[in-house]
Amino acid sequence: MSLNPDVPLVKLVGAGPGAVDLLTLRASRAIAWASVLLVDDLVNPEILALAQADARVIRVGKRGGCRQTPQAFIERLMVRAARRGERVVRLKGGDPFIFGRGGEEVQTLQAHGIEVEVINGITAGLAGVSSLGVPLTHRQHAHGVVFLTGHAQPGSQPTDWAAVALAAATLNWTLVIYMGVRELARIEHGLRQSLPENTPVAVVQNATLAQQRHAVSVLSDLSALVQREGLGSPSIVVPGDVLQGLVQAQALACENNGLTEAHWKHAWKQNAST
Ligand code: SAH
Repeated sequence: MSLNPDVPLVKLVGAGPGAVDLLTLRASRAIAWASVLLVDDLVNPEILALAQADARVIRVGKRGGCRQTPQAFIERLMVRAARRGERVVRLKGGDPFIFGRGGEEVQTLQAHGIEVEVINGITAGLAGVSSLGVPLTHRQHAHGVVFLTGHAQPGSQPTDWAAVALAAATLNWTLVIYMGVRELARIEHGLRQSLPENTPVAVVQNATLAQQRHAVSVLSDLSALVQREGLGSPSIVVPGDVLQGLVQAQALACENNGLTEAHWKHAWKQNAST
């Protein structure tokens, strides 16, 4: 395939939550089209097998707290490569427009006269909960769903979790919290201001990958649960009544196996009485 410097184009591609076969057909075609790929570190490396053998792969990971590639540098790389006539794919975990800085990148690229095609991916919050067989909305349990970040941008106002809880409790929302595991104590404290202590919660780590792990419990046990189970990043944290069936089933299984723990009994009784 020859390069066409007349039409600078970048494809902003969602790589999905992890499992290679959750990639969209359009995403896999874009990856095969690319001459240069700029890849975030939450992208499953197996996906790169779909790229051309001579495509250049640039890893631009930026996991919180670890080595980071500055955003401005990534954007400069894309602009330069696109202007050189490279077929540029910017590959991001999940969906590029859900906490993926996709919006910023589109703005920068367009400001430099570069065309952008956005290719959606399945976002981790959706895939993580679905993998437990639980819907994010259910007409008996949730009238809506909200995607939130647990990691406020440095210098910006931290999320008011008590206000979030009040809205969720009043309006029957499922909350899907990304990047929340490090801030869990603060999140739990805020959410408990308005959501009942026995609100079911799930934490799903490495959703859809072979190493996926998850744990379910109730809101008052959230931080303790994550510590006990040794869960870490990348995880989504999901408080919501849509998980009621799962929490009850787990409480029952614990009782049946003689593994009863006080909090499970508590959760089971509270849920059964509502
Ligand atoms: N654009 C991505 C989100 C990027 S923010 C998307 O749409 O999924 C990074 C956060 O996403 C992580 O801290 C974690 O909260 C979540 N995440 C990404 N991949 C995940 C996975 N496989 N399992 C659980 N959470 C994941």
